[in-house]
Amino acid sequence: VKKAAKPLGADLKAKLKEVFGYGQFRGTQEAIIQNVIEGHNTFVIMPTGAGKSLCYQLPALVLPGTAIVISPLIALMKNQVDQLNAFGVNAQVMNSTLTKTEANKVKRDVINGDVKLLYVAPESLTKDETLDFLQKATISFVAIDEAHCISEWGHDFRPEYRRIRGIIDNIGMNVPIIALTATATPKVQLDIQKNLQMDDASVFKSSFNRTNLYYEVRPKHQTKKALIQFVKGMKGQAGIVYCLSRKKVEEIAELLRVNDVRALPYHAGLDPQTRMHNQDAFLNEECDVIVATIAFGMGIDKPDVRFVIHYDTPKSIEGYYQETGRAGRDGLDGHCLMFYSYDDIVKLEKFNKDKPVTERDNSKLLLQEMANYADSAVCRRKQLLHYFGEVYEKDCGFCDNCKHPREKYEAKDFVKLALQAVQQTEERFGIEHLTTVLTGMKNPHVESYGHDRLPVYGRGAEHDMPFWHSVIRQCMIASFLEKDIENFGVVKMAEKGEAFLLEPYSIKFSKDHNYEEEVQQEEQ
Ligand code: ADP
Ligand code: ZN
Repeated sequence: VKKAAKPLGADLKAKLKEVFGYGQFRGTQEAIIQNVIEGHNTFVIMPTGAGKSLCYQLPALVLPGTAIVISPLIALMKNQVDQLNAFGVNAQVMNSTLTKTEANKVKRDVINGDVKLLYVAPESLTKDETLDFLQKATISFVAIDEAHCISEWGHDFRPEYRRIRGIIDNIGMNVPIIALTATATPKVQLDIQKNLQMDDASVFKSSFNRTNLYYEVRPKHQTKKALIQFVKGMKGQAGIVYCLSRKKVEEIAELLRVNDVRALPYHAGLDPQTRMHNQDAFLNEECDVIVATIAFGMGIDKPDVRFVIHYDTPKSIEGYYQETGRAGRDGLDGHCLMFYSYDDIVKLEKFNKDKPVTERDNSKLLLQEMANYADSAVCRRKQLLHYFGEVYEKDCGFCDNCKHPREKYEAKDFVKLALQAVQQTEERFGIEHLTTVLTGMKNPHVESYGHDRLPVYGRGAEHDMPFWHSVIRQCMIASFLEKDIENFGVVKMAEKGEAFLLEPYSIKFSKDHNYEEEVQQEEQ
């Protein structure tokens, strides 16, 4: 393997203009690009639509040799390669859709040094012939797109992604890696860095806050009526309605159509022509609303989507956030409305029953986080950003929970008890155990640790487990407690929590939603 030499004083901005036609870098793009060019491992965590692709495309152009881009979706690869070719860049794909002759031509071009970016599906990368040929090539660096696929703790785990590091080592490529993702909780971030052995990487994490998006959760109640009313209220503006099943997609698209909304369905069960046609109709504004399964949206760049509706409760906050992120790309307001019911959560849990155990447990956890999000009356933005590891101090004022606050209560004494429970159980347990101890429930697990003899045991007995759940979750959002990312499910003290225990102060928490009650009140 020949190692690529560094470029001399590449004028990045000129290149940006010349090839892509853009006048400015966005956010941290330039620093990231510089870092890759200097040959450092780089880890980029940036929301969808922020411009991740450029972070490896531009370095690939200025560095000698070919950049390998690993990407999980063949359709997306094709899009990017077409786009790059249109810009006059020699980018090619290597995946299972190529004929032998086509594959041979790609290999020749790469070895001759003509190709600047080679997009490879992870399953192609593991093939012997791919390995052989890559050993003969000059590789500038390896970019790993959708890097969260590496982690079992994420929402889109792909086992073959975990083999990438080994393959890079086998090829004997001593080249820098740039890993990119739009969704990663702190735990997933850690997992990615460990798996890729890039603890040394420079991490570029942009804020995930999308200030122009309004978040709203409503209970699933007369949902069809509510949907029609909402969509009609948007007066022909573009929107996406996500449903869980193909059948539901068809049904809802039809429902909207008979209500004079220009709506079309999109799901993987439609034939490719219809799918393409419906997608184009949406992009060209011949239809206003696309009703879709989550198959829709990846790689679609429509700036003026004004609303995203989740007709069914999504499977994870990661998915939810990515899907809502398709609204308001142009910076104007976007409304994100989710219909929530615990029945959906139960239904989704049943879908998981045939999965391997770890995957099933993890899916369950992601679902639980989703339910917690829906039930909580804490500022939605605060919750979402906290989920992705960001601290957002104030309430946002631009979500349903901020606009219509639930009853608040003085939480000083509850916080004190919750923190004491964590402390007295030596920061080694999860939320379930802690709420059991606080409420003084009998349980063999608690007894086997002797936790029924702790001072804090049963001190919170006048409230139920869901109440304490909510308190502990709010303690985490308020940074009194934190998840132990090394030890799954364990809740630890945070600095702010230690300080609070030394000198407790008044703090207000919100009562969780009780959607049944809210629906009843509305009906009266
Ligand atoms: P991501 O991969 O982060 O979702 P993309 O790389 O697809 O985002 O970029 C989103 C959009 O932003 C694309 O249309 C891209 O062409 C555009 N874009 C990226 N960087 C810039 C820039 N510096 N100036 C203008 N547009 C940009
Ligand atoms: Zn808010």
